[in-house]
Amino acid sequence: MKHFFRTLSSVLTAAALLCCGCADMGAGKAVQPGAQEGNGGHGDSAGPWRYTDTAMGTVVQMTVYTERQEEAETFSGQTMELLAGLEREEISWRLDTSEVCRANESAGSAQGFPLSVELSALLSDCLELWERSEGAFDVTLGAVTRLWNIDQWAAGEALEDFSPPSEELLARALEHCGSGRLRLAEEGAAGDGGLRLYMPEGMGLDLGAVGKGLAMEKALALLADRPDVTGAVISLGGSILTYGSKTEGAPWRVGIVDPFDTSDSIGILTLEGQWCISTSGDYERYVEADGVRYHHILDPETGAPAVSDVRGVTILMKDGLLCDGLSTACYILGPEKGMDLAGQYGAEALFVMADGEIVMSEGMEQCFTEQ
Ligand code: AMP
Ligand code: MG
Repeated sequence: MKHFFRTLSSVLTAAALLCCGCADMGAGKAVQPGAQEGNGGHGDSAGPWRYTDTAMGTVVQMTVYTERQEEAETFSGQTMELLAGLEREEISWRLDTSEVCRANESAGSAQGFPLSVELSALLSDCLELWERSEGAFDVTLGAVTRLWNIDQWAAGEALEDFSPPSEELLARALEHCGSGRLRLAEEGAAGDGGLRLYMPEGMGLDLGAVGKGLAMEKALALLADRPDVTGAVISLGGSILTYGSKTEGAPWRVGIVDPFDTSDSIGILTLEGQWCISTSGDYERYVEADGVRYHHILDPETGAPAVSDVRGVTILMKDGLLCDGLSTACYILGPEKGMDLAGQYGAEALFVMADGEIVMSEGMEQCFTEQ
């Protein structure tokens, strides 16, 4: 895939206020969580129907195109159940009801752990991404992410008594990390095609970098079963799924958050049909202590927040899981290696650099409108 680089630094110095409200959804844009609401003031019968709720530690926003409000409500309820179930039964490392939690408990056992077909596929994809990203993306960082308590952070909220883990603690935790030390073997759960996972003692999976991606995949499968829903946009924190079309046939418009002012967007992606859009950035989840900002994307070599010239990366592609994984990987790799990696997966990428430069792939350029 051929890419070219373009500088749009004027975007970030422009005085004009950006209008995220004119987009169907702003990637990672903060909104107030609240109870589900009916349609967004479009009258009782026409839709679209809009819902806001929370799941997987993030705000979930949905815009649903169906003929009847009742159908939209059923769909949004099913989606919320699906997200809660995904956390509870599959990917949470805290809840002992989840498969990841049980897999982590099996670390060090000679028998290994029989994975479900779904988690087998997910981990296989994650291992491939680990290899292709030269180790930058690594879902075995559990021992380290726990030291930082990342899942307790929000964007910039003060945490009582936060202090970064010492280098010695990090070095010790890193001994338990590394996808190269994990093994997936044939013959998993009950001969159903699932794989068996072998992890050394102390290793822990952290699927935080792909959780929203898996959620987008599941939402897509649900949509495939709901022909009455003809269009939808679902936003889960930094990941957004578009599906189908609006009743009036206009394209989707998705805002990309400005890392320098997260109440604004740097531009809008105009998209037709089904897409996944994931953004990773140092402004999404972080904590500050003694004037230092610690963000949530860790460098597997040091166990510390990745030192990067990048403030945010947005990936655009059809596949949800890879989209989410790639945005995390590309943040660490930076634009040159990151563009190459995204290109290997047929994904489009946009990087917002620390000096305000915007670097994007050719396909991204075609749907991006500067604000
Ligand atoms: P995202 O917001 O999708 O970029 O994912 C960030 C989350 O992934 C963090 O909160 C961690 O749980 C986890 N994580 C942090 N660093 C890495 C890394 N280098 N590779 C894979 N997962 C990571
Ligand atoms: Mg991610």
